[in-house]
Amino acid sequence: MTSPTLPALAALGEFGLISRLTAGAFKHKSVLTGIGDDAAVTALSTGMQLLTSTDMLIEDVHFRRVWHDPYRLGRKSLAASLSDIAAMGGISRWALLSLAIPSDLPLEFLDEFMRGFLALASEHDVALIGGDTCSSRAGLTVSVTAMGEQYPDRIVRRSGALPDDDIWVTGTLGDAALALKLLENGEAVSNELLSRLLDPPPRISAALALAETGLATAMIDVSDGLLADFGHVAEQSAVGCCINLDDIPLSPAFRNHAAQHSVIPHQMVLSGGEDYELCFTAHRSNRGKIADSMKKCGNAVTRIGIVTSFSGVTVVNRDGSTYSSQHDGFNHFT
Ligand code: ADP
Ligand code: MG
Repeated sequence: MTSPTLPALAALGEFGLISRLTAGAFKHKSVLTGIGDDAAVTALSTGMQLLTSTDMLIEDVHFRRVWHDPYRLGRKSLAASLSDIAAMGGISRWALLSLAIPSDLPLEFLDEFMRGFLALASEHDVALIGGDTCSSRAGLTVSVTAMGEQYPDRIVRRSGALPDDDIWVTGTLGDAALALKLLENGEAVSNELLSRLLDPPPRISAALALAETGLATAMIDVSDGLLADFGHVAEQSAVGCCINLDDIPLSPAFRNHAAQHSVIPHQMVLSGGEDYELCFTAHRSNRGKIADSMKKCGNAVTRIGIVTSFSGVTVVNRDGSTYSSQHDGFNHFT
């Protein structure tokens, strides 16, 4: 991948590299002082509060350079943080990007990474306002901090779910986990599945519609698996839930794979991470409004269960029997 026409990282030096990385960053009127000073200065919209979220992507923990092309890795790095802001109902406005770069990383990799990062930023009107750049002795580390804003009464927390609320999920679950499994096994992966792993679309329009209409009582983005993530909502809302296994939405590519192998890999649907879909709760009287609102912003949405007053995350089969799962989500330390 190295090219004789491009200067190596060492020749560019830290400040040359920062200039090169940030050359494509665009200006936004809310940014009073952007990249280049000791800190960025930004203006919040009147009456709004600041939402902040940070995420790390570490080579060989979160991504493999053989599987993740740099353009989509750049997009995904930002998407994970934008998804967190969206899951609170926040409007993402600004991002900080910190990179620890191995000295032998080809410059083209960084150029493509930034092209992807800034393309997604521009799609969502998010301004890159700073970051940090340093060298790494082992692998590439990417850290992204996203900042957004929202009126206080529109912010949707994990703690608002009420007994008898419906549980909804956008899009489909399990695709990213299936794509990863197929890559790990050296099997063929369809483009549809692969793009769910490499370039997950943050469900921003759906999240903002829910925040603006006040329809969601609680919301989370599914990044560690449905059971683990909804478990956080249940715990923080002091409720439980009952999820109908057969109601969980699956993509055509996922169903196709399941049909070929004569088994639905439920584990991936319930516990696979990185889907970046939204899971939210809402009062049952709002079913029609939710369907209309999601249709209007072009997002698929499915009702998958109900919130219970007793604690515990229960999954039931079509016949009403309890499904038992051995492993309930991605955890870095297990
Ligand atoms: P300092 O030494 O004061 O921390 P730096 O020399 O690290 O400043 O960075 C100079 C400017 O470049 C700062 O505005 C910083 O936010 C920005 N910056 C550094 N690295 C990045 C990056 N990877 N992406 C975006 N902005 C960056
Ligand atoms: Mg610095």
